[in-house]
Parts: sequence; C-alpha cells; structure tokens
Amino acid sequence: MKIFNTLTMHKDEFVPIEPGKVSMYVCGPTVYNLIHIGNARPMIVFDTVRRYLEHRGYEVNYVSNFTDVDDKIIKAAIEEGVTAEEIANRYIIECKKDMEGMNVRPATTHPLATQEIPGMIEMISTLIDKGYAYEKNGTVYFSTRKFKKYGDLSHKNIDDLRSGFRDLKVSGEAEKEDPLDFVLWKPKKEGEPFWKSPWSDGRPGWHIECSVMAKRYLGDTIDIHAGGEDLVFPHHENEVAQSTCANGVPFANYWMHNAFLNIDNKKMSKSLGNFFTVRDIAEHYDLQVLRLFMLSAHYRSPLNFSNELMESAKASLDRIRRAAARLADIAENGADGEMTEAEAAKAEEAKAFIGLFDEKMDDDANTADAVSVVFDLVRFANTNVFEENSTKAYAKAVLEALQTLCDILGIIPIEAKGSLDEEIEALIEQRQQARKEKNWALADKIRDDLLAQGIVLRDTKEGVKWERS
Ligand code: AMP
Ligand code: ZN
Repeated sequence: MKIFNTLTMHKDEFVPIEPGKVSMYVCGPTVYNLIHIGNARPMIVFDTVRRYLEHRGYEVNYVSNFTDVDDKIIKAAIEEGVTAEEIANRYIIECKKDMEGMNVRPATTHPLATQEIPGMIEMISTLIDKGYAYEKNGTVYFSTRKFKKYGDLSHKNIDDLRSGFRDLKVSGEAEKEDPLDFVLWKPKKEGEPFWKSPWSDGRPGWHIECSVMAKRYLGDTIDIHAGGEDLVFPHHENEVAQSTCANGVPFANYWMHNAFLNIDNKKMSKSLGNFFTVRDIAEHYDLQVLRLFMLSAHYRSPLNFSNELMESAKASLDRIRRAAARLADIAENGADGEMTEAEAAKAEEAKAFIGLFDEKMDDDANTADAVSVVFDLVRFANTNVFEENSTKAYAKAVLEALQTLCDILGIIPIEAKGSLDEEIEALIEQRQQARKEKNWALADKIRDDLLAQGIVLRDTKEGVKWERS
C-alpha cells in the first residue's frame, strides 16, 4: 500500500516496523460537546484505513484518545455548574454512541488524558533532564530551538515563523525564551482541575498528552499517526519534537492528514458556529449515508457538505442495499444444486472486483475510486444474477464479494433484523390472513399504516416482500 506521507510529501510504500503488524494513533476529539460531522471525517476515514489494513492481513493496534481536560471543557463545566469530569464523561458516552451509529469500530484502546498524568510528568521530567525543556514560575516550556528538526513535518520555515511573532513582552509571554516554545505543563487557575507535579499544581499542555499516550500504548516509534490537517502545525509538529527528544528515536514513520469537511467552502467548526452535529444528521438520515458520503471523496480532498451530496449518498446506499437484498433473496430461494460452469466463471469475475478494489485502496486509501468499484460490482450483480434460474450457491458467492467490499468500507449492506422488522413482518402476516378471509378493508388498512411508516409492500411470486422507502 502507498500512503501519502505529510513528512515526505509523497506517496511512500507502506512498510511496517514489525512485519504483519501496524501501530496507528489517531488524535481524538476534545469532549466538551456533541461531535460535529467535521470531527466525524477523521473517525470514518481512518477507521476505513484500519479495516483495509486488516483486510490485507495486518494486525492493527489502533489507539485514539479523548482529550478530557482542556480550557473548553472547563468553560463548559463552569457554565453548567458541574465538574469538568462530568462534562467529559457525558460527551465521551455520546461520542461513542455516534461512533457506533457511523459503524466506526472502537479503538483497541481509547486512552483518556486525565488517566495518563504520571506518564506526562515522567516525559516532561525527561525533557528537562535532557535539556529540551525549562521551567519558569511553575510553567514548563519546550525549547524549540534545541530540536533541530522542528518544522520538518509541517514544512514550515521556522525563522519566518519566529520573526512573524509579535514581541513576547507585548503578547504577555515574556517568560518564554523563544516565541515558538510551547507549554508542557501549566499551573492551575482558581477553580480548575489540577494534579500535583514537581513544578506546580497544574495540568499538562495538550500536545504532551498524545506523545505520552502513543508511547504507552504503541511504543517509542509508531507506524502511522493520523488526524485532521489542522493538527499538522503546531500539534503534530510539537508531538514530534517532544517524542523524538524524550525517546531518542523517530516518532512516527507515516503521517496521514485528512482535509476539512467544509460548509459553503468554509471549514466546519464549533468556533465558527457553522456545524451540524452527527446527532443532527441522524435525525434525517441513517448514519450509514453520512459514512458513504464521506468515503465518496478522497480523504485528502476538501469535501463540501450539501443536501444534494447527502441525497446522492442516500440513493447510492439504497442501490447497494437493494442489490444485496436481491442477492440474499436468490441465495435463499434460488435453484438448488451446484453452480453451473458458466456461473462458476461469473463468480470468479465477481471475486475479481475485490482485487480491483484493493488496487484503489492501495493507492493512498482512495475510497472515492474504491466506492466506484462497489458500484461496478452492484451493476455486475444486477445484470448477471437472475431470480428465475440462478443457483443459490452462485448468488451467495456474488453476495460474499459484495459483503467483503462493504465490510472494508464499514457499510452495512444487509441490516440485521431488529425487533421493529419482526413487528413489520407480523403485520404483513396479519394482512395475508385478512386477505385470505376476504377482509379487504383490514388488509388495505394494514398496508396503508405500513406505508405511513415508510414501508412499501411488493407482491412477488415468492410472497410479499417489503422495503423501506
Ligand atoms: P478537535 O475536537 O477540534 O480536537 O478535533 C478532533 C479531530 O477532528 C481532529 O483530528 C481535527 O483535525 C478533526 N476536525 C475538526 N474539524 C474538522 C473539519 N471541519 N473537517 C475535518 N476534520 C476536522
Ligand atoms: Zn494529538
């Protein structure tokens, strides 16, 4: 697989540190509110990268944190008159619900910043001991001048950046030795949560959290580090500085960054107020639609949110589901016996779509093209598998190929039957009974009631079929 690596700025062949294994760290959300669909973009795309790596036989250790101590969380807590912990815990629970709705698998580990403070104090002490950090009045800063590679990840000209800063005295940062130095530890303000440390009662800076959690759960050097492109500078640049200087080895071999989800071509963000939460979207759409919408674009291309694109993703999802339902139906009710020779050849053709799909994903996780391959397979299935005479075995083989591709994308082509489905089926049964008894009024009423719930009935020779309109 080739991965576009922000560090090298080209597509590099992916070679894991340990054959057959991948360590992957994805910066997670700050939990002070419901997540918005911009935050959902890295969750969906990197979950898909993880699924793809697993499909290629890798064992993936996937770590994604929750930042559960931060100015915004503290502000929300003060506004509501509750603790910061209560705010963070509440929105972690809500975030996990959204992830489940989007079929984003839980990470191998979801560390919480507040549970990792001892590791942070240890790493900061190491940085001070090695001369990479200094303390002033209870605050500890990283000394960016000491790390010669500072700026390599974001490809920034550090001297330009430095001279672009206003006078440190004017900006109120006179304690810093250099304008680019950043906070590793800061003293508490009145009413803020705090931890004891050798420097002050206080809390860690944001960047040190990820360095420490990556080290603890994945090791000193990791294969893939990912997140949204706004994190390249300063967050990831600072993570590289801290980890490399503390551990004495390179931090991450591949850096993947997703482009923004925009609205009216502006970044969707809480601060601009131009956002939809995942919960807002769930009121109108199955979140599988959101997932397919995200994957229909390449992760490094900006994606503009619009109703038209969501409607188009909805129609696409319906097409996949209709094809899968038809295949499942033939796999259950089709002809018995072995596949014919012609069918066996066609089944091989269907399987070959997996190879085509893999080629697209091997090219820097090009989900946009990979989704097109799914539609090529849907078209193939619709025109090469027949209700009238195809065997069960053949329909099953084609369905398996479709299921394999959908699994990698995290798209669910056949929804598991829920209790709601059983209720619908019981009503259909009642309607059949009413028809037998020539109680047309009741039969029509049941059909109309179902229609009002968006359930459409279709009479076929195998009996009554239903689908959500
Ligand atoms: P935050 O909670 O702001 O730290 O963001 C969590 C993750 O969501 C980070 O990887 C961000 O880069 C990413 N993110 C935030 N807003 C957007 C957006 N509009 N489009 C894509 N990714 C975003
Ligand atoms: Zn991070």
